[in-house]
Amino acid sequence: MTRIDGHTYLIGLMAYPIRHSMSPTMHNTAFEALNLNFVYLAFDVPTEKLKNGVAAIRTLDMRGSNVSMPNKQAIIPYLDKLDISAELNQAVNTVVNDNGVLTGYTTDGVGFVTDLKKKGHEVAGKKMVLIGAGGVGTPIATQSALDSLSEIRIFNRHDGRFDHAKETVDIINEKTNCQASLTDLADQAALKEALAWADIFCDATGVGMKPLEDQSLVEDPTWFKKDLVVYDTVYAPRETKLMTIAKNAGVDHVYNGLGMMIEQGAAAFKLWTGQDMPIDLVQAAIEEKDHQ
Ligand code: NAD
Repeated sequence: MTRIDGHTYLIGLMAYPIRHSMSPTMHNTAFEALNLNFVYLAFDVPTEKLKNGVAAIRTLDMRGSNVSMPNKQAIIPYLDKLDISAELNQAVNTVVNDNGVLTGYTTDGVGFVTDLKKKGHEVAGKKMVLIGAGGVGTPIATQSALDSLSEIRIFNRHDGRFDHAKETVDIINEKTNCQASLTDLADQAALKEALAWADIFCDATGVGMKPLEDQSLVEDPTWFKKDLVVYDTVYAPRETKLMTIAKNAGVDHVYNGLGMMIEQGAAAFKLWTGQDMPIDLVQAAIEEKDHQ
């Protein structure tokens, strides 16, 4: 870390708990590779300390911060402006400090769309089925709609997130040209029909990750047509049960959420530095950490 000197700018990550995060590895690898004078550090900041955390961005003239659970909504009142991505989600994962003006962004949705694009799949003009409209599913839905997805059918179980999913559907229908609808996940016949109709299927529920690693929200391989693009936002494990079922059903394009996670970081990196993150280097650094 010889590049740290009196001119180094700090970028933070404020969440709780957060010490397990891969973001410091990602960003510091990229800063070092591009010889940029920034350093990225993770800070355990529970919501009750968030006001002081945001004040620190201003006091220390930090370039910005990432924000994760439980602070993604709670940070909004402390910021000066919201970008459209944060406005549509009413959530923030990235803060940029431009000469004391703090703007909130959500880069998760851009991460999803960019990762799909790099894998050869545009969302524009396509039809999508999305299960789960929580902190990750919502920006996937809104960003895909902003990027000209033609139709989205969201499925959510009837839990505390259902009303939020309804609001997301209303926002997409009001503010974009994408047609959105919401169905209770309990309606399995509707899900089966929707999967036959869709071009892209995304599971943004976290089912398939510990402690639900032996579960999949689609169990019947015949529900997957071969040309469906199947995307699971989970990246640990790298292959979920849903992905295995889809692959065994002969689906060619089956992806985990690692690319989305790296691309949401790359989008934040670009906002802070104006530079493109060296994705291959960052991916190699993450894989090396995985094996430590
Ligand atoms: P969240 O709690 O905000 O939302 C979870 C959503 O899934 C809700 O809509 C909920 O109704 C639904 N859900 C949860 N359990 C379910 C179940 N058993 N059956 C059916 N529906 C269920 O969580 P989140 O922040 O949106 O994270 C979701 C998952 O996304 C995480 O578990 C993680 O695996 C993954 N994730 C991926 C990235 C990435 O960049 N790839 C980043 C963060 C999280």
